[in-house]
Amino acid sequence: MQEQNFTVTQPTRIRFGVDTVNDLAAMVRELGGSRVFLVIDPGVVAAGLLDKVEASLKADKIPFTVYDQVDPEPGLKLADNGAKLAKKGKCDCVVGVGGGSAMDVAKAVSILLTNGGKAEDYIGLGKISKPGVPKIMIPTTAGTGAEVTFTAVFINEKTSSKAGMNGDPLYPDAAILDPALTLSIPPHITAATGIDALTHALEAYTSTQAHTISDMYALEAIELIAGNLGKAYAHGDNLEARSAVLLGSLLAGKALATAGVGLVHAMAYPLGGMHQIPHGLANAVLLPYVMAYNLIGAPERFATLAEMFGVDTAAMNLREAAEASVEAVWNLNQDVGIPRNLEELGVSKEDIPEMAKIALTVARPVANNPRRPILDEVMAVYEEAFNGWQ
Ligand code: NAD
Ligand code: ZN
Repeated sequence: MQEQNFTVTQPTRIRFGVDTVNDLAAMVRELGGSRVFLVIDPGVVAAGLLDKVEASLKADKIPFTVYDQVDPEPGLKLADNGAKLAKKGKCDCVVGVGGGSAMDVAKAVSILLTNGGKAEDYIGLGKISKPGVPKIMIPTTAGTGAEVTFTAVFINEKTSSKAGMNGDPLYPDAAILDPALTLSIPPHITAATGIDALTHALEAYTSTQAHTISDMYALEAIELIAGNLGKAYAHGDNLEARSAVLLGSLLAGKALATAGVGLVHAMAYPLGGMHQIPHGLANAVLLPYVMAYNLIGAPERFATLAEMFGVDTAAMNLREAAEASVEAVWNLNQDVGIPRNLEELGVSKEDIPEMAKIALTVARPVANNPRRPILDEVMAVYEEAFNGWQ
């Protein structure tokens, strides 16, 4: 057994199931909220999901203010503006409805209301001293797991770089996961966010910080996503597949919250900051290339990953079994229409040295990675991902 040394913090109450969105008002009351600040993005409103959330609050006569200005991959300013509005509305509870973008803004607003200052002040680890106001997350993508993590990620508009606030006060008090809310996700977002969740589980499983509890979450998540993402992509109305992928993304979030992510995430950060490529898509394209680079650091773990994808590794040696995990992920990427290389994402080759430097500054994911990366190697992985496999 690997050496065990871990902390698991699980403060988020989880409500999972079809139509659980109707339990929102009761959850607000249980947490002591009386005026809700509802953070949502325009795409989620257009999908008709605001109506469902409002219905519960209206039925229970809970007053609320809607903040629907969130852009995908939000900037710090969105959190600051939200906090101002929430203060003006005297809100004492924050509800985030959407993907990671809306949930991260909601999480930041919650802690800004009690800690004061600006969102920028809290970028880094452990800079938030006071708990926020109660916050409830309702994910509408099956991807980030932000409903159970202690992170909120933003683009710093001044530096065009992505950076996270991290700290226990960012753990949501409750998460409501209603698979019916994910039926409207368009196929390309189903694919990118689903592979993001897979990346969380896979990087947590191969993290230097992995332990028995994170492994349980990660392996279950991988099996659920590997077995159901293709079905959810192929037919968005497949509620069973949607439920499985949403559950997978939740478990992957639990795994990442305790074991961390790795080099895929570090290398995806500059793609978001410099090139505005959505987080899930950036991870998805990089994932097989970084796996191939990482294989030698944890071949047994990659071999187990292949098995989670249903590969029969019995007749393979360890190296072949580990390599089979890369092929399985590559095939899933192709099935769900993920671009094959960075060139297809519009990245320019000249940016690789700068991106590699930035990736290596994303300290914790780099430290968690099963192979300790150096600058030349990171540049080589970007180059391979740029040129692409056939
Ligand atoms: P997102 O929140 O940016 O949403 C992507 C798009 O999907 C948006 O246009 C949105 O309108 C649309 N959408 C969402 N739900 C929909 C639905 N049910 N029907 C129709 N359309 C829908 O995407 P995301 O991948 O969930 O979040 C990305 C953000 O999360 C990034 O900023 C990333 O850095 C961050 N992130 C945070 C954590 C964390 O732990 N806090 C972890 C990973 C990523
Ligand atoms: Zn991610």
